[in-house]
Amino acid sequence: MKKKLRVMKFGGTSVGDAACIARVAQILKDAAKEGPVVAVVSAMSGVTNRLIEAAKRAEAGDGEHAHRIFEALRKQHDTALGSLIRDDEKRTWLSASLSKIFGEGEQLCKGTALLHELTPRTLDTISSLGERLSAPMVAGALQELGVPSEPVEATELIVTDSYHGGADPIRERTRERSQARLRPLLERGITPVATGFIGATESGVLTTLGRGGSDYSATILGAALDADEIVIWTDVDGVLTADPRLVKEARTIPEISYREATELAYFGAKVLHPKTLRAVEQAGIPVWIRNSFAPEHAGTKITPKGRSNGGGVKALTAIRDVALITIGGPGIVGLPDVVGRTFSTTAELKANVLLISQSSSQNDICFIVAAPDAKRTAAALRKEFAQDVAHEKVEHITLDPNIAIVAVVGENMRGTPGVAARTFSSVARENVNLIAIAQGSSESNISFVVSEKDMKAAVEAANREFGLGAPVSRESVVKVS
Ligand code: ASP
Ligand code: MG
Repeated sequence: MKKKLRVMKFGGTSVGDAACIARVAQILKDAAKEGPVVAVVSAMSGVTNRLIEAAKRAEAGDGEHAHRIFEALRKQHDTALGSLIRDDEKRTWLSASLSKIFGEGEQLCKGTALLHELTPRTLDTISSLGERLSAPMVAGALQELGVPSEPVEATELIVTDSYHGGADPIRERTRERSQARLRPLLERGITPVATGFIGATESGVLTTLGRGGSDYSATILGAALDADEIVIWTDVDGVLTADPRLVKEARTIPEISYREATELAYFGAKVLHPKTLRAVEQAGIPVWIRNSFAPEHAGTKITPKGRSNGGGVKALTAIRDVALITIGGPGIVGLPDVVGRTFSTTAELKANVLLISQSSSQNDICFIVAAPDAKRTAAALRKEFAQDVAHEKVEHITLDPNIAIVAVVGENMRGTPGVAARTFSSVARENVNLIAIAQGSSESNISFVVSEKDMKAAVEAANREFGLGAPVSRESVVKVS
């Protein structure tokens, strides 16, 4: 029987320090015994943030601050290397190659500080350094365990468009490159360790896939290589029924569908980058979410269709770093194209709109944007509708940052009557006021807006109503050792 090919991605916390990287190397070693594995790694946790901070400080002219960040990062990586690699010669060699990468970053920051200009292209190059540093370390740690391994920069694998800061892959080209570069390594029994987060345009200009994009890298590579399975190793036991900080009975969902996982990702469950499953939609490759700190847990399996848990609702999620913008006034009924103008404005700003609701009386339109986009969106709308406000056609454009979205997610809600009613009655029993409601026609998500202070009560109420906190089923905890 042909051995299964697996792509395994390790997130920032999973490679957070030497001890974590050693754990990852052990997981990879065990996996490589069973069949070929391609590893994909994130930067050590916090590193990408620090790199972006260095770039921004350099842009503001504070090259000194950027330099200090680089010093600290050098130290952090050298410390990890010191305890990971025993052989002096090899450690010195690795340390020198990391130093070269740091050198590149510092040069770029110096240039940025001189020019007081940070282009999206330069920012991508600086923020990509973390992955370029972690991949050789993980490969080195694997070699320490006697597993042949080689770091590979994803600029050689993933061909993207040129949308810096959020590039998308060009499928066929990525396939050709990845196969050509990785297949020969696998055939020779070498475990490649690819940098997550990064790609390059056809002409070789480095791009990034967006923050948290290493998950996406893993599925892009999985699809390109026709992998049998993708495993996203992180620091939680899979996809949970709710955020355990909000609901203490939250538990791991054994199996969930692509659509459900995507809905959860969009609505703030930080476990997956929202674009991750796009890459495997056609091929239908299963994606596991597992905990590198507790590999004995089976985790969550994400499959095209998922598996019913008996009820319609699989999970709850809540996001608080969002704001509600309302455009209102009785006059807007007669105003053509308010909706069009509103969303052309948000599109122009590339503001992330998470939820839209309009009453049929057309007295107001409200929508939710991510908090960082809120102020500039409201300001742009005030400008767009300035004339209409002056003529009292639009009464107000308001911004409320003290709100949260709660979403009830489950693919089998479709066609199950009563889910919305149960959701809203359970919330009403807690005296929580609903500010806005939206259900997509896909019917796999009912979202509602509450005031931020009511968020926890609302999630707990819905959790109780749908029995999501039931004891852990036996199948969700499987000893694999
Ligand atoms: N290191 C990148 C980030 O922090 C990508 C990732 O970790 O997925 O956004
Ligand atoms: Mg992540």
